[in-house]
Amino acid sequence: AKAAGRNRWKRSAAITDGAAVDEIRLLGEIRAALTGDELRLEYQPQLDLRTGRLHGVEALIRWNHPTRGAVPPSGFIDVAEKSGLISQIGTWACATAIAQAVELNSDAAVPVQVSVNISARQLGEPRFAGTVASLLGATDLNPGLLTLEITETGLITDAPQVRENLVALHEQGVQLSIDDFGTGHASIAYLNDFPVDEIKIDRSYVDRLDSPEGTAIVVSCIELAHALSVSVVAEGVETADQLSRLAELGCDIVQGYHYSRPLSPDALSGWLAKGGP
Ligand code: C2E
Ligand code: CA
Ligand code: CA
Ligand code: CA
Repeated sequence: AKAAGRNRWKRSAAITDGAAVDEIRLLGEIRAALTGDELRLEYQPQLDLRTGRLHGVEALIRWNHPTRGAVPPSGFIDVAEKSGLISQIGTWACATAIAQAVELNSDAAVPVQVSVNISARQLGEPRFAGTVASLLGATDLNPGLLTLEITETGLITDAPQVRENLVALHEQGVQLSIDDFGTGHASIAYLNDFPVDEIKIDRSYVDRLDSPEGTAIVVSCIELAHALSVSVVAEGVETADQLSRLAELGCDIVQGYHYSRPLSPDALSGWLAKGGP
């Protein structure tokens, strides 16, 4: 009876703690990925609608797991965010993307902007702006060619550290972008409260450009941004129709499968060599 009782306890503990055990295992694997060179960045080109040329690229993380293969960001970024590991990932992503920016701009006739996604948690760390400054300082890259993308949820905080980091980064010339714009509850307030250079209209709104309501939301985002001298990127643009609607509405930049999928550094070089899509 005692053994059966113990088994029963074990079984229920296994059920309740299963998710936690998985998470701990995943954290170990992310740590191994960082030291074992399993992480890569892909770069998705962004089209400048005014010039009809490349504006820049967004760096998107990729994990090639030794046994599970490609793990999408949705499979590990949230877990890394709950632990401190997201900061190591973020620092690695900044360093890697800055090196790529140096290469892209070494012989480019026109400057290529490089955007990196930064988690809210890292933005709250006192040393973050200093880390970015020293990464940039080790190169001769114009800091204005680096954009940091922050989701709205990252700005919902009273932490003075977040503002201090954003102001310090902005003073270095680094560009700030609000990602997934319109999906939070206080998008408009952030435009006023933080030194924002760009907003990225979320794909869910781009998807609704075929309705009057969806169009109204996109139009008001663009008008608001432009009134504040903030530039507008539309993300998840998949069709020629969406692209021409956005051009009509005065959107500045588009990003999505219609222009290009995210590309490996080699594929990006090839893409640039033949002059675009
Ligand atoms: P996000 O920053 O909103 O990135 C856009 C996502 O949309 C990317 O997914 C991209 O591959 C995908 N996408 C681009 N164009 C299209 C399109 O036309 N249609 C559709 N359906 N999707 C498109 P991905 O690469 O899976 O990244 C998902 C999220 O993971 C990102 O969303 C971002 O929040 C996060 N993430 C990616 N890389 C990093 C990173 O280095 N650091 C951090 N903290 N988060 C990252
Ligand atoms: Ca992004
Ligand atoms: Ca986004
Ligand atoms: Ca998104």
